[in-house]
Formats: sequence, structure tokens, C-alpha cells
Amino acid sequence: MPTQRALLVAVLALAAFAPTLLGAAPARADWIVEQLSNAAPGMSGETRVGRQEMHATEGRVLIVDKDAGRWAGIVRLDERKVYELDMVKKTYFERPFSYYEKHRSRRDREHADIRRRWRNESDDRVKESMKAEMIKSGIAPDGKTVAQLERTGETRQIGPWAAERVIVRENGKVVFDMWVTRDLPRPEPVFALYRGIGLFAPEVVGKTDAIDGFPIAIDVRIDVGGPFAGSQHAEVIRVREVDEIPKSTFEIPDGFEKVDPPKSEGEGVKVTGEAPPGATIACAHCKKVVSEADAIYFLNPLERFKKYPVCSDECKKGFARSLKKR
Ligand SMILES: [Zn+2]
Repeated sequence: MPTQRALLVAVLALAAFAPTLLGAAPARADWIVEQLSNAAPGMSGETRVGRQEMHATEGRVLIVDKDAGRWAGIVRLDERKVYELDMVKKTYFERPFSYYEKHRSRRDREHADIRRRWRNESDDRVKESMKAEMIKSGIAPDGKTVAQLERTGETRQIGPWAAERVIVRENGKVVFDMWVTRDLPRPEPVFALYRGIGLFAPEVVGKTDAIDGFPIAIDVRIDVGGPFAGSQHAEVIRVREVDEIPKSTFEIPDGFEKVDPPKSEGEGVKVTGEAPPGATIACAHCKKVVSEADAIYFLNPLERFKKYPVCSDECKKGFARSLKKR
């Protein structure tokens, strides 16, 4: 389900281009930034690139679909909320930042669970291959998160800006792959958004803090499972400094009706990557059919943590045992 994740990434990507976005900076011009990105609600998020426009003032961002005018998103740092607007139906829903933090915590618990199974594995050969798979998957056997900042020295001209490629990794896996220019000021405030929204490890944010320049193009890979797993691309095509944008720009327009957030992305939804909301799934162990929402998952470390739906903890254990025998 790319919708919410994609919008969020669009906002994150765009936010990188708004130097005044979050900081307690002295009053200065606001920003309107145009970008091309494959991140947007309802899009696959993988291929189609759309034109988007961001309006940014301190602590507030509005991002709008410039192709068809179908959607818009608002990030409010003062409220710690993200709003997604359907401009055609004139409806909106909201998510607190804590929603994203919860997804990251859940991924952390999954990783802890994998580490526990690895430590308790008695077969040395299985243990060895588990370890290799864990490292490949960016799961540190010692549980430590290590982030790296790599200045590649590769350079490229992007529009009017000369940029250098900079990569940030978490336990070896790429999180940010950016082209950074020093022709524009460093966007201090954006990193506060990364930290505030809870999708990135503090170690990763620490490395992005050390980036010396302004990211003009970004590939960001969010790996927290659920609706927030995937990579998105954004590239700036125009940056305009403008006089103060009216605060009302960052409010829900009159006449918009509040709706519930999409269920498929709600709390308690199990990660599948495949099953649509409301679908039924056969337990991988006992074959009993359960609803997608009731399934739990066994992640097989020997298949790069491929997910198998099971109906209960008992079946999870049973399935793990049966896989081992195979
Ligand atoms: Zn079962």
C-alpha cells in the first residue's frame, strides 16, 4: 500500500529543499519548490514521475500534485501531524508522527526477534548462514545500529547546480543516496523533520546532520516495514524564494470533510507486501484460512527473512520447525 508512505516520502524529499522549513531561523523568505518525483498517493511509487510543488514556511509544509491537482499533503510540525487531502472528493485524513515511530519500533522488535533466534540456534551451520543473511539484510548480529556517511567524490550538474553524490547507510544498507550542492545553503531544518517523524534511526539522522550542502536529488529508502517500505526518488527543478506565505495555506481548506485513515495502513495491520486489506490467507502451517488482519508472520532467515503468514504462535513455532527439517 504505497499511498501514505509515498506521500510522506514526497514530503520528506521536498522538505530537504526548504532551508527555512523547521529551524528557529530568523524571519526570512519562504520557499516554493518544484520537483519531479515518483512519490505520490495512489501511484505505484516505482515508475511514474509526477510534478509536485511545495510551499514551505517555518514548521509547515504543503505539497500539491501539479499534474492533475488530485491530492495534497500538509505536514505540521507544531501539531506533529501529517494530513493527506483528496482534492477531488474534498476529504482529508490525518496521522500523528507517532504512527511512523510505531512502525519503526515494530521493525526493531522484529529484528530483535531474529537476533534472539540466531543466538539460540544450536546448529552451527544454520547459525552461520543465518548470520550471513542477517548482515545482508542490514540486521546487525550485535544489535548495534551503525550509520555511515560516504562522500563519493562523484560529481554531476543538476540544472543550475553542481552536485556531489553523498550516501548514508544504516548497517551497510543505503538509506539516503543524494546529490548535494554547495551552491545553495545547507537545509538545517529538514533534519529536524527526519528526527521528529520517527522513520529514521538516530544514528542515520546523525550522519545526515554532517552533510555539508543542499540535497538537490534524493533517493530515500525507508525500511521500516508495513506501508513504509520502499524507495522513492525526487529531483528539484526550480527553487523560488518568496515573501511570507500566508499561514492559511497550511490549513485544511473550508468544506473538506475529515475521514478515517485507510484501514490497510492502520494499527495492527500485519506486514505482507502482497495481501490486500480484507483478504484471507491460508496459514502456512495448518492451512487454516484467516483474515489478513489476523495473520501473524514468520520471517525465515534462510530465505532473506521471507514472510510466511501463520494463524497463531503455535503454528509459527511449528512452521519454523518444519522448515528446518526440510
Ligand atoms: Zn495455523
